[in-house]
Amino acid sequence: MRTAYIGMGGNLASWAGAPEATLAAATLRLESLGRVASRSSLYSTAPVGFAAQPRFMNAAVALETGLEPQELLDGLLAIEQEFGRERPADFANGPRTLDLDILLFGELEISSPELVVPHPRLAERAFALTPLNEIAPQAFVPGQGQTVAELLDRLLENTSRGESAAVVRIESSVWDNWKERGF
Ligand code: AMP
Repeated sequence: MRTAYIGMGGNLASWAGAPEATLAAATLRLESLGRVASRSSLYSTAPVGFAAQPRFMNAAVALETGLEPQELLDGLLAIEQEFGRERPADFANGPRTLDLDILLFGELEISSPELVVPHPRLAERAFALTPLNEIAPQAFVPGQGQTVAELLDRLLENTSRGESAAVVRIESSVWDNWKERGF
């Protein structure tokens, strides 16, 4: 068994409802791939890369799993599909119903054509590091030689106040009561 940290995000409604409902429903689906050991709060974040789109909801989940990395990735892609994720080839940072990324997988370092772990853009993304720091500040990030908390500190030192303020923790009863909705 290893602990994988999954970054979740979305900014378009799916059949489950608004993005926070999609993230709650997707967390339930993650239980088919392992045990959800902890979840961060929900964050409202400014879109990165392509600004003319709605704000994103982001969160991080710790998943204890016996799956191999490629099996976990296949499971995540299937969950994205279930929530209606479309992947236009020419539109990398565009709006989406659900994005699931493997941020960390224990202390494994993986570099295959399909999968790179730790996630290659983790250290530069406050919308991924902030929720991850809430549930795993001491997790070691192989390749960076630093913990999640140290990476977030470094990122915040090097970004403007405006950028770091773009990640806002929010209250959501749908997210808090993720097991009770019965999606
Ligand atoms: P995206 O458009 O960001 O959702 O890209 C998804 C694709 O990135 C997947 O089809 C994976 O093959 C690839 N990928 C590479 N590394 C990772 C990772 N750590 N987590 C999720 N997807 C990854």
